[in-house]
Amino acid sequence: MQTTGNTKEVSLYFHIPFCTKKCPYCHFYVVPNREELQLSYLAALEKEWQIVSHKIAGMHIVSIYFGGGTPSLLGPQKIDKVLQWIAGSSATISTDCEITLEANPENVTLELIKEFKACGINRISLGLQSMEDELLVHLGRGHSASKSSQAVIDCYEAGMQNISVDLMFELPHQNMAHWTHTLDKVSTLPITHLSLYNLVIEPHTQFHKKRKELSTHLPPEELCKEMLDIAVDKLETAGLKRYEISAFAKPGYLSRHNTGYWKARPFLGLGPSAFSYFDKKRFQNVCNLQKYCSQLDKGILPIDFEEELSFPANLKELLAVELRLIDGVNIEEFEKKHAKLPQEMLNSLKKLKELNLLEQNNNIIKMTNKGLLFYDTVAEEII
Ligand code: SF4
Repeated sequence: MQTTGNTKEVSLYFHIPFCTKKCPYCHFYVVPNREELQLSYLAALEKEWQIVSHKIAGMHIVSIYFGGGTPSLLGPQKIDKVLQWIAGSSATISTDCEITLEANPENVTLELIKEFKACGINRISLGLQSMEDELLVHLGRGHSASKSSQAVIDCYEAGMQNISVDLMFELPHQNMAHWTHTLDKVSTLPITHLSLYNLVIEPHTQFHKKRKELSTHLPPEELCKEMLDIAVDKLETAGLKRYEISAFAKPGYLSRHNTGYWKARPFLGLGPSAFSYFDKKRFQNVCNLQKYCSQLDKGILPIDFEEELSFPANLKELLAVELRLIDGVNIEEFEKKHAKLPQEMLNSLKKLKELNLLEQNNNIIKMTNKGLLFYDTVAEEII
């Protein structure tokens, strides 16, 4: 059903866990891309949708996100099927609903993107990571820098007006020349949004197993800080304004879906390992495709854990997350939407202002330039 209205907004996230191969730094839940797995996944996903869709009856869907994994590997027909389930639900879909699909450059063709567009996908998020072939090899990626450029151009020529790319820095063997070259190359492409990630060596990854050896090739801390400064400079010069600690966008292209995460919009996550935030509760599905499918076969929701933070822990977390936005938080609106800040939170904010990590103008509290460098300290003090 398509309409607009003033009903409560909601977002949907679908975790599509298939990848051609696992990248050595990746800590997401992924499985090999096999047709029989896709079919059992899709059957289970439909069951999950049938059970959870009643929760959003009467709500207004403003964004849908297919993340992964590599969702584009599911192909346009299966993505179309999922979009048809949503269209048939009793929630309303915003006329300008942002519908994002993640894809890897090596899988992109002009024809494929045209087909995704015909299904209703209106935003593509491409995992470029770097524009240096040498670094892409170290990252175990299956694409080259020239394929990345071509993938962005294919998306654009297929009529996709909203194209986001991911870049990584603080990589083994990366130097400043690599990084400025990557930023310069990316700035010439027809993109509307960019997310920056610094490499974090997570447990249970191949990188973690060889972390000692890798650590000798990581850029020094001072260089990492400079890399971030240069990125902000170059991207803003290219018209991509920093609007969140690690997100940049052309005017009018802020990610509606991610903004929902930062501003506590409820969202339902479907698929193995997917997180949800709904009815003030956080929950996550099991990180195991087989278990996900077998639970749904029995008509049981495959939830692994669920929690509801009590007051004021919930309020602290909401504030810490929303402060990630460069424009900061309007405290009056925040209190109206959630609850009045207790004295202990006011004390934390006062301390952070004294440390020059936060600043306040009338009702708006936001991070200073120093605060942006030390977000973890800000979040820790608030939480
Ligand atoms: S393509 Fe993305 S999701 Fe898949 S293994 Fe690599 S980093 Fe992980």
